[in-house]
Amino acid sequence: MTKFQYDLFVIGAGSGGVRAARLSAEYGARVAIAEDRYYGGTCVNVGCVPKKLFVYASHFNEDFEVARSFGWSINDIRFSWQQLIKNKNAEIRRLNSVYEQILNNAGVAIIDGRATLKDAHTVEVNGEQISAERILLATGGWPSVPGFPGNEHVITSNEAFFLETLPERIVIVGGGYIAVEFAGIFHGLGVDTTLVYRGPLFLRGFDQDLRSQLADQMCKQGITLLFDTRIKAIEKAGDRYAITYSDNSRGDADRVMYATGRTPNTANLGLESVGVKMNDKGAVIVDEHYRSSVSSIYAVGDVTDRVNLTPVALAEGMALARNLFNNQGTMVDYSNIPTCVFSQPNIGTVGLTEEAAREKYGSVTIYKSSFKPMKLSLMQSEEKTFMKIIVDKTSDRVVGVHMLGPDAGEIIQGIAIALKAGATKAQFDATIGIHPTAAEEFVTMRKPAN
Ligand code: FAD
Ligand code: NDP
Repeated sequence: MTKFQYDLFVIGAGSGGVRAARLSAEYGARVAIAEDRYYGGTCVNVGCVPKKLFVYASHFNEDFEVARSFGWSINDIRFSWQQLIKNKNAEIRRLNSVYEQILNNAGVAIIDGRATLKDAHTVEVNGEQISAERILLATGGWPSVPGFPGNEHVITSNEAFFLETLPERIVIVGGGYIAVEFAGIFHGLGVDTTLVYRGPLFLRGFDQDLRSQLADQMCKQGITLLFDTRIKAIEKAGDRYAITYSDNSRGDADRVMYATGRTPNTANLGLESVGVKMNDKGAVIVDEHYRSSVSSIYAVGDVTDRVNLTPVALAEGMALARNLFNNQGTMVDYSNIPTCVFSQPNIGTVGLTEEAAREKYGSVTIYKSSFKPMKLSLMQSEEKTFMKIIVDKTSDRVVGVHMLGPDAGEIIQGIAIALKAGATKAQFDATIGIHPTAAEEFVTMRKPAN
């Protein structure tokens, strides 16, 4: 009999923590989990799930226009932000209890409260000390806002999900996933939207063609994009906010939202005193088996600040449980992780950007296609779907696939399997298309663009 109360104590019931706790318990481990805020973590409460619901909500604006082009008469269209928030909150509450149920069903002991580390085998929650042979840090991250005069006036994505009223004008700062997605959401809901990004073009790290074409389409939709711009100061002016930009120009808005990245949740957890090493951003440093510098303490998901996506946190939680309690030696393969920016239209992408592929392989063949989505063919619209395939010339292997267009995330998920399997361009070409779809273009692009 072990001297510890639990085999595994998990701190944080988000994507990674719940997956690790449930699986470990199913393998027979005695597991407890502590959660101080909400079951399901960021993704369920203030991340992927409510964000996607908002994306759906905001897209109806365009859908009604499309419907008209197919002969529908739609009158008296009204939108209630309050109703959306109410329905969204009800759905999230349902999911919270689903997550709690999952843990209960697996036999995981659930403890409501904030956990801190006391030593390599002890955590404290609600004043009680609990011992465990192993401790898993799955505490996720939190929005980070830079310091500047007036930064107390800004909201982050956390608050955006619960605004009491929809602003008339919003300024969103940042050029990553969240800024771009929320710009599309607010614009779609009729809000006068400005996106402010410090660099020359947003979505750094994504394929250049996708970045520039998305910027172009967002501009055409009526979103104001201010690149190479920062905010110097914000002052409250009545019920609005007066903004001073880096070039000293002025603007104002009902809301200013910062989406300038997230910081790992490691402050005041007791990590330093126990000797858990962190990097300069406060992320827990782990080895390939998610073990920290203290051998009984592990970390998965956003708290390690590597690939901050829910499916990655899930995969890491699963691998850890398998390795610790089922002798499986599972390793997560971090190559070719597909991802989607739920911008409007979507960006879906897997594999290398053109720039990265050229650097890695030297000689690459690029295929590109751009066309008006068929659903928009009966109306005036400048929206274009764009697709791109990158092939290593030597091996004929497809090393990158990128799409900007409706349902790009849905389409790229399937293509990601092909890349994982090492598909060649010849195999893409030998695949029969599904007609008429946008996705068939990926198996019919024959003429290189370069
Ligand atoms: P989290 O889900 O953040 O869970 C950590 C949990 O730990 C939280 O519940 C927290 O309350 C709890 N906790 C923290 N400290 C303590 C403590 N001391 N004691 C007890 N409990 C504690 N990813 C995608 O793949 N697709 C998307 O579309 C997507 N959209 C996103 C949209 C937004 C607005 C945001 C912010 C993120 C989005 N993400 C998306 C990222 C995704 O949400 C995260 O990668 C994922 O939630 C990370 O899971 P995790 O388990 O590491 O941490
Ligand atoms: P990101 O790291 O994606 O983007 C942060 C953005 O803020 C970058 O454009 C960065 O600029 C900019 N920035 C950083 N610091 C400053 C500063 N001090 N002043 C001005 N701009 C600044 O973070 P997000 O907050 O958008 O999202 C966090 C993470 O959550 C994502 O990286 C992703 O992993 C995950 N996520 C995933 C989603 C999905 O899968 N669809 C959706 C939403 C989030 P620069 O590029 O110049 O560094």
